[in-house]
Amino acid sequence: AVANIGVVGLAVMGSNLARNLASREGNTVAVYNRTYARTQELLEEHPEAGFVASTTIDDFVASLAKPRTAIIMVQAGKGTDAVIEQLRERFEPGDIIVDGGNANFHDTIEREARIAPSGIHFVGTGISGGEEGALDGPSIMPGGTAESYETLGPILASIAAVAEGEPCVTHVGTDGAGHFVKMIHNGIEYADMELIGEAYDLLRRVGGLEPAGIADVFTAWNDGPLQSYLIEITAEVLRHTDAKTGKPFIDIVVDEAGSKGTGVWTVQNSLDLGVPVGGVAEAVFARAVSGKRAQRDAVRGLGLARPTATAAPEGFVDDVAKALYASKVVAYAQGFDAIIAGAEKYGWNIDKGAVAKIWRGGCIIRAQFLNVLADAYAANPNLATLLEAPYFAQAIADGQEAWRRVVVTATQAGVPIPGFSAALSYFDSLSAERLPAALVQGQRDFFGAHTYRRVDTPGPFHTLWSGDRSEIQTA
Ligand code: NDP
Repeated sequence: AVANIGVVGLAVMGSNLARNLASREGNTVAVYNRTYARTQELLEEHPEAGFVASTTIDDFVASLAKPRTAIIMVQAGKGTDAVIEQLRERFEPGDIIVDGGNANFHDTIEREARIAPSGIHFVGTGISGGEEGALDGPSIMPGGTAESYETLGPILASIAAVAEGEPCVTHVGTDGAGHFVKMIHNGIEYADMELIGEAYDLLRRVGGLEPAGIADVFTAWNDGPLQSYLIEITAEVLRHTDAKTGKPFIDIVVDEAGSKGTGVWTVQNSLDLGVPVGGVAEAVFARAVSGKRAQRDAVRGLGLARPTATAAPEGFVDDVAKALYASKVVAYAQGFDAIIAGAEKYGWNIDKGAVAKIWRGGCIIRAQFLNVLADAYAANPNLATLLEAPYFAQAIADGQEAWRRVVVTATQAGVPIPGFSAALSYFDSLSAERLPAALVQGQRDFFGAHTYRRVDTPGPFHTLWSGDRSEIQTA
């Protein structure tokens, strides 16, 4: 037993994570993959890593020093369950099984409950940053017991991305907390990408800019408050030219967006938690709409008059930047609301500022912005919404007029902006003195006697709609 950490599953994520671990002082890394050819390939390509390789799971387990710690990086779902079972049969109390795959947090809760009685720790861990992050330093979101984090924490800290001198890893909470927070991260990522896509579309179709010009705009934005990895790569994608045709790369890509499901999970779970995450939902729906080719063809085929090109109003590019920023604040506010609600429902003690901090490096949504967000929660952990934090409230106050102009211009020009407009409506809903929810309550009481509360007297009440329309107090 010589290795302090093991990795099971040596496809792209597992082998990169194993290489990352091996490159850090003090780690000796055991590796195992169901199909040995994959292990052999890794050993041949990276002799410098000094991997301790095994051909059988028994040898792999024997190569681990106690407490044995193994990170599983195999196909989520059945593959993960199969490997968990193999390790559980061989591990002893105090040993740690880490699932670093993209598991559904409900599965993680269930797996932890199943394994915990044996005294073995099961730690569902969100890992963000894709292949590159796994190799160079991801953002890591572990759940599981505090006890397991004592062993695991330093190992994960050794391979995590570093932001402002701090490793991007924190013990998020027990059982499924890590995978839950990773899910919300991905949901926010969907919203962020959609908003950036809308900004591009506006700059092109209303602003009249070509992709390379828009790339320059994004590059300039990347020097300001919008700085983020996604803005940076967007500029790169827009600047890229297709070698085959000489056209902008963006114009040779089929405009139907794929997805792997974590955005949908975020929306499904937020619906269950009763948390409005319109930014994520609109992003998920926008990808779905893009794939409805028959419907798109049918409606386009109607040949209905399209709005004639609208000239870009003065200051349009700056307006779009402000609208993007304000909409992004809303998306994050909604994402953190989901974290708060999830923590309450599942009994996790999640430090929101710490989550914002570990998202500053390594992960896809990494951004300067997260520093401000972490500061906001540090100053007041009990914010009713991120929108009330002074910095963000000021940003929205400054950007509000621009945001409205952009939504109006886009609507007149026929440019779809589900993200921008839903975010603005959400903000307007929160800032409205009265909402038409009062009317909805009236309708519900009319057809279903669902009752309502009065503004002036504790209730609830019901009006006898099909009778004399007098009011009765129902409780
Ligand atoms: P894949 O998801 O493609 O899975 C392939 C690996 O799973 C192989 O090592 C394969 O072994 C193993 N495997 C599949 N079924 C079994 C089984 N029944 N028993 C044992 N091993 C099995 O690998 P990736 O590297 O792309 O991803 C690994 C995990 O990381 C996944 O959960 C994925 O969702 C997640 N991921 C996370 C990303 C991120 O940014 N965080 C990005 C990409 C993935 P064999 O070689 O024998 O077939």
